[in-house]
Amino acid sequence: MTITDPSTATSSSFASINPRTGAVVASHPIAGEAEVAAAVARARTAADWWSGLSFAERKGLLNAWKGEVTRRVGELAAIMQAETGKPHGDAMLECALAIDHLAWAAGHAGKVLGRHKVPSGLVMANQKATVEFRPLGVIGVIGPWNYPVFTPMGSIAYALAAGNAVVFKPSEYTPGVGVWLAETAAEVFGQPVLQVVTGLGDTGAALCRSGVNKVAFTGSTATGKRVMAACAETLTPVLIEAGGKDALIVDEDADVAAAVDGAVWGANANAGQTCAGVERVYVHERVYDDFLAQVIARTKEVHATNDADAKIGPITMPSQIDIIKRHIDSAIADGGKAVLGGPESVGDRFVQPVILVDVPETSSAVTEETFGPTMTVTKVASMDEAVALTNASKYALGSSVFSKRNGMRIAERLRVGMTAINGVITFAGVPSLPFGGVGDSGFGRIHGPEGLKEFTYAHAITKQRMKPLLALTTFQRTEKAEEQLGKLITMLHGRGSKK
Ligand code: NDP
Repeated sequence: MTITDPSTATSSSFASINPRTGAVVASHPIAGEAEVAAAVARARTAADWWSGLSFAERKGLLNAWKGEVTRRVGELAAIMQAETGKPHGDAMLECALAIDHLAWAAGHAGKVLGRHKVPSGLVMANQKATVEFRPLGVIGVIGPWNYPVFTPMGSIAYALAAGNAVVFKPSEYTPGVGVWLAETAAEVFGQPVLQVVTGLGDTGAALCRSGVNKVAFTGSTATGKRVMAACAETLTPVLIEAGGKDALIVDEDADVAAAVDGAVWGANANAGQTCAGVERVYVHERVYDDFLAQVIARTKEVHATNDADAKIGPITMPSQIDIIKRHIDSAIADGGKAVLGGPESVGDRFVQPVILVDVPETSSAVTEETFGPTMTVTKVASMDEAVALTNASKYALGSSVFSKRNGMRIAERLRVGMTAINGVITFAGVPSLPFGGVGDSGFGRIHGPEGLKEFTYAHAITKQRMKPLLALTTFQRTEKAEEQLGKLITMLHGRGSKK
């Protein structure tokens, strides 16, 4: 359901633009505070109905929506392609992964969230303890443009499966994708369980202040801080999925060709506009020269062009072009070298891949999110050094490790939300794995059981099943009971020795 209801629509609108051609894709209304409030009010009524259904009933409806999205996926991919400029194959891959997540969330919500027994412990042995995870109510989802289906669906699918209604504010660059998702959902659900409010940053800000029960934000760290500040005023909880500066580590025993393949795709897919894209590469000195020669050769095969069969397309958000250029310039000014491309690789709409070496770790090309088809490649003497440099970033979203024998050992030392061993970004496609960051990459999780629980609150119930051996929670408590409690606690917990 869109906000084009004539009673609430505003006269102001904005256009989404095809970044390949500069042509207008479509015009959309700008939702102001009143329209956002109206959508949230409709969502509240829908949430009452939706949360009253059983898990099985919601699963049935979510699977029906999944079927609809799957059968019409070509339409969705076409809108995404027009709004972002990404290649058709990439748009289809993104849709396929989002559909798989929707299926997982629908299929697992009952098991993960439904009331289940937990141990009550010896002190409270007479109690039957259970916990259930209940929907929060209405979730405001604010999404980015770079993966305009996959990323917000990580919140939308899991929030819906947990029994919430959703009001979704898509990026101003990709509103059509959001409208399409909400319209297909409305056809299947028959109730405004998923609505979209289109607009600019102010529409997102209005959603933060609208009294929703949680805001799930995906976007830049800077906007994430503004979202958190706005939500703090009403104690609205937030999930922040923010930027990254992901590292790929290559150990001396790695399959270098596989590491090169991962680095080339991880850094350049979607023209580098990937939150968990590879931006830094740390390579063991014993395989550094081999890796660098191969990575340059393979990256030369990737060109950003307007052709329909190009591997990578344009930079979707025009203002990002200056940031990419600034990082390449800083890398070189700080003493680094461009071994493929350079400042001249940055055009008006398209940026060609750039490989930088010998860039100091203090340069903005290493410390800030570039969000373009660039990578820094740095030689390290050991995996200790690679781990230390990876962990030195203020960002901590994903990471990759290439090693035949030591992958797990290295991965376990990384301070990040996710790690792919002998692959890149593969964790995003495993629905049962939680996805999210640490530090400036945000907090909270989408995907997996944690992603379902993120949109719930725990309701604990304990029920007395027999009279207690020790009556403790009563003014009738006896000295004998206190003495016995002391003995029990000593027996249970008194054995740990001081070290
Ligand atoms: P932005 O932070 O610019 O925008 C994100 C969303 O927030 C947009 O819908 C935007 O609306 C909205 N917004 C802007 N201002 C406000 C405000 N004051 N209050 C509430 N909402 C507001 O990010 P981008 O869209 O440029 O996305 C790219 C960023 O997203 C990168 O940093 C990337 O790393 C990150 N990202 C993180 C992911 C993760 O899972 N960790 C996944 C994908 C991307 P509008 O567009 O209309 O301005």
